[in-house]
Amino acid sequence: MQEETASSNEQHPVSLKWIQRYFKIAEQVSAWSKDPSSKIGAIIVGDKGQIISQGYNGFPRGVIDSEDRYNQREIKYKLVVHAEMNAILNALYNGSSVDGATLYVHNLPVCHECAKAIIQAGITRVYIDTNINERWQESWHYTKTMFSEAKVECYYYNDADGSITRQC
Ligand SMILES: [Zn+2]
Repeated sequence: MQEETASSNEQHPVSLKWIQRYFKIAEQVSAWSKDPSSKIGAIIVGDKGQIISQGYNGFPRGVIDSEDRYNQREIKYKLVVHAEMNAILNALYNGSSVDGATLYVHNLPVCHECAKAIIQAGITRVYIDTNINERWQESWHYTKTMFSEAKVECYYYNDADGSITRQC
């Protein structure tokens, strides 16, 4: 497994201070999710550091997002739009390009479905702040494979010690 820890600004494209700031916002956005069991937040940032859009895990606009539906996993998984996907779609709604942008995802790794959209939308760098647990291993494997081939950089930011580790 190839790992490389970036400790200075020379080695890393975004400074730690700004990574922390964007993750704080992503965390705020995650709290807007109505899902009682998992709250994910995503922020898309342009190459000038401007925030282009935000997203959290939720049902599509207008679809009834009752607690009852969220509590039935089968239904929830069919109706939910992931935070990363929502951030991309919100940018589209605003007529904003995310080509060359950076995505920050709080609280879960990027699944292989969102990875496809991230690549196709033109996002070139991704930061996550969660460890990959058993349940996400397989999906994360495909995400990393696709990101590597499509030249999307991905990094793990550890909030506990401020370290940044390249994942692909
Ligand atoms: Zn996803």
